Amino acid sequence: MMRIGHGYDAHVFAAGRPLVLGGVIIPHDQGLKAHSDGDAVIHALCDALLGAAGLGDIGRHFPDTDNSYSNIDSRILLRRVRSMLAAQSLAIVNADVTILAQAPKMAPHIEAMRATLAADMGIEPHAINVKASTTEGMGFVGRKEGIAVHAVALLTDA
Ligand code: MG
Repeated sequence: MMRIGHGYDAHVFAAGRPLVLGGVIIPHDQGLKAHSDGDAVIHALCDALLGAAGLGDIGRHFPDTDNSYSNIDSRILLRRVRSMLAAQSLAIVNADVTILAQAPKMAPHIEAMRATLAADMGIEPHAINVKASTTEGMGFVGRKEGIAVHAVALLTDA
């Protein structure tokens, strides 16, 4: 059986933090405000994977009221989601991520994100696609107030 899932996340920019997306530190003058490291790519991806598995969402498994997740490296969360899928005998077929950001430019970092995410998910880089778009200046993304990310993932029986 095949199972599809969707995930979405958005975070507001905040000064004095590194910008971490897809497990990669991206040079920028601000990062994303969050209880964790603010990696909206990994958060959306985790929600897509958990959604496909019928396992709820990231907030249910890693609540921001739990201080053990304070400033946590989101790659740890992604690896935990991978373990949850394995425990359900589910394998990742592929995943596709769309980053919505007016700035900074994502293109130079896409391949590093793919390699990092693939390693944490235990899949080949060709099975994880990452792309980015601006919103041509419209909305909170266009005003450079924050970054939004959509993700879809397909699972199959392992
Ligand atoms: Mg988040």
